[in-house]
Amino acid sequence: MRVLIAEDNAVALKVLERNLRQLGYEVVSASDGAAAWQAYQADPTPIVITDWEMPAMNGLELCRAIRNNHNEQYTYLMILTARGQKEDKLAALDAGADAFLNKPLDLAELQANLRVAERILQAEATLQKQKQQLQDLNEELQTQNESLQQSYRLIEHANRRFSELFEHVPVACFTVDLEGIIHEWNLAAQQLYGYTKEEVLFHPFYEKVFRGAAASRLHEMLHRVMQGAIITGVEGEDYDSEGNLHYVLRSAFPIRNASREVVGAIVAVVDVTYRVEYENQLKALNLRLQSLAVTDGLTGLHNHRAFQDYLEEQFQGAMRQTLPLSLILMDVDYFKQYNDTYGHQAGDEVLRKVAQILKEHVRDGDFVARYGGEEFVIVLPRTESASAVAVAERLRQAVESAEWTHRPITGSFGVASLRYDMETRQELIEAADRALYQAKKNGRNRVELWDYRMLFQVA
Ligand code: GH3
Ligand code: MG
Ligand code: MG
Repeated sequence: MRVLIAEDNAVALKVLERNLRQLGYEVVSASDGAAAWQAYQADPTPIVITDWEMPAMNGLELCRAIRNNHNEQYTYLMILTARGQKEDKLAALDAGADAFLNKPLDLAELQANLRVAERILQAEATLQKQKQQLQDLNEELQTQNESLQQSYRLIEHANRRFSELFEHVPVACFTVDLEGIIHEWNLAAQQLYGYTKEEVLFHPFYEKVFRGAAASRLHEMLHRVMQGAIITGVEGEDYDSEGNLHYVLRSAFPIRNASREVVGAIVAVVDVTYRVEYENQLKALNLRLQSLAVTDGLTGLHNHRAFQDYLEEQFQGAMRQTLPLSLILMDVDYFKQYNDTYGHQAGDEVLRKVAQILKEHVRDGDFVARYGGEEFVIVLPRTESASAVAVAERLRQAVESAEWTHRPITGSFGVASLRYDMETRQELIEAADRALYQAKKNGRNRVELWDYRMLFQVA
């Protein structure tokens, strides 16, 4: 340990130096107060032993200077004095001295005082260390407190933001706990369902807003959400407070606590009533357009286009599976004359009635269409030519024997069946057309089946 000695008496200084070195101290010597003060400022020592009477700066002044210096480490000050007066001792204590060493110096006294000094310095150092630790701890607490405050503010802010968002999001939203009690109910929910917050908050969802089937469906959904499922866009039907039906899309998400346990659910409901109504109208319109596109306006039978589509389908199917397929083409006899005689309106009546008769006299799977003008066509899937001829004959008789307003009506029938060397459905239609031509030629009101000889006849 280092000791600074201030002593103007060279002999006394030497003695003290020697004594201290013997006791194991490192010694810094100064021959007056001012020199001591300089040495101290340059490199403070933990112990200073100073003479009282010195030129330039006396012992008391040195003590004061050191005390006013407010060094970080405590300096133990001993003042050497021959003065034994109480007042002197008090003055020295006031100046900052810790102990007195009487002159002439007694080695045992010096040793005892040094031991006290060391103990006090030790205690002082420990105290300083504890003080520092306390200070550090304090600072750390301070920063922790600040970051805690910061997080708290952030959470508060987020909470507020979430509440605002929840309240004003343009989708009906509400939250329920595990018992189904409603805890939040936003503006859009009030608008969609027509119930105010006061009416629904802290009541089970099935008490007022959701009843019957709607309640069970929601219950089922929440049951799954409470087990951790996320459900989006499930279609449903809800009623508002005035009993109006709303088509809705429901979504639900679990709410979890800090330990990740599900404690409730957020339910979001989008009203798609207008969309559903619009879609239903569109569907009906489409259906109608579709039927208009494939139906003949006068007779209600399939039209020419529908016939072509259907025949193509049957033609391909029959070819692929080598199944029979037959076609009957029918043309009303002398219809131009009927029109000319009884008028177009009466002619239309006949066409409608012929259509009715044809429909009534075929099997369910057979396809009757208006081929065009006063010509009709019947597609007979899985039917051989003999059966097709029989059907045509039955139709011919039905037309002939029906009751007609102005004069009897008859029709001529051409029948053709699929041959597997045919390449397109057109060939089948042409064959039936040739047979029909033959029926006309052979006197009308009759059925003719296509025959290969017809290929060589001139139209
Ligand atoms: P054929 O016995 O040779 O078949 O003689 P037809 O008079 O029936 O044959 P033609 O092809 O000469 O005349 C068909 C007539 O059918 C001519 C046309 O005015 C009439 N017609 C075609 N479509 C309609 C319709 O939608 N309504 C009415 N009323 N008549 C139609
Ligand atoms: Mg014709
Ligand atoms: Mg005709």
